[in-house]
Amino acid sequence: MPSLELYIEGENAMTALGYALAQQTDGHGILFLQGDLGAGKTTLSRGIVRGLGYDGPVKSPTFTLVEPYEINDKRVWHFDLYRLSDPEELEYLGIRDYFADDDLCLIEWPQQGQGFLPQPDLEISIKAHNTGRIVRLLPFSTRGKSWCAALAS
Ligand code: ADP
Ligand code: MG
Repeated sequence: MPSLELYIEGENAMTALGYALAQQTDGHGILFLQGDLGAGKTTLSRGIVRGLGYDGPVKSPTFTLVEPYEINDKRVWHFDLYRLSDPEELEYLGIRDYFADDDLCLIEWPQQGQGFLPQPDLEISIKAHNTGRIVRLLPFSTRGKSWCAALAS
């Protein structure tokens, strides 16, 4: 399946894309979020967490590495691996446990955990373009493909 590219202008539109992704995933799966500092990875993650029904603040997990969310019967783990000095550290954090249940895992800076992360359902790459962002969605699984198909229609 080819990737899907969307032009998303402004923070509100980014949040709305997060809501749409939340509906598709229904709280299950692994999403990689790639892009430079300030690209909009946390903004999109916030939209996804809110879209699943979470009302509280969604902070960047830059210093905590992971922020957990419990939303009714669903769990979301929001990672930011920017400050990880060695991918091997993920082993000590018990990274496998996070992927054992079919919770939703949102992972910013996945390249920092290379070799210690499973293949995602969807890789999202964000790039600045004009006053907005180009968001590219690349699926790696059957369900990732169906999310993209739904978002494209
Ligand atoms: P990252 O987590 O990738 O470092 P953030 O989500 O913290 O980036 O966002 C950085 C800035 O980009 C925020 O000020 C946010 O309002 C802005 N932003 C996010 N998405 C868009 C968009 N689609 N168009 C324009 N600005 C955006
Ligand atoms: Mg961020």
